[in-house]
Amino acid sequence: MKNDFYTVASYEYTAEARVMQGKFMSQGIEVFLKDQYTVDVDPFISNAIGGVKLQVHLQDKEAAIALYNEFREYEVDRKRNRIICPSCNEDKVLIAPPKKSFLYLLFPFIEPKRYLCNMCGEIFKPNKD
Ligand SMILES: [Zn+2]
Repeated sequence: MKNDFYTVASYEYTAEARVMQGKFMSQGIEVFLKDQYTVDVDPFISNAIGGVKLQVHLQDKEAAIALYNEFREYEVDRKRNRIICPSCNEDKVLIAPPKKSFLYLLFPFIEPKRYLCNMCGEIFKPNKD
């Protein structure tokens, strides 16, 4: 079967996905939540299957990405100021995904937090303030 869907984001919990789904729907973009029933039945399996996927029709891909980048939450520091990318000075910064190493799976707490710039892709460590 042909895959006509694009996964915009994935969420650990259905509730989070539903918030974003509502925002997309209000902009007239049809959204599908993949695996939400699996996650709802067994929340502990969410990580293993990659969470609830927020999907759109392929023809809505560009609009959906733009919308998602507008609505998603970006990282802030302790004073609630947006984290600024040291490379491009944009304030659209996310937590970098963990390296999926064997050690990380056993001891996720030893992986230091790193940021990922959503604009230029720079990965950097938090400032020690
Ligand atoms: Zn950047």
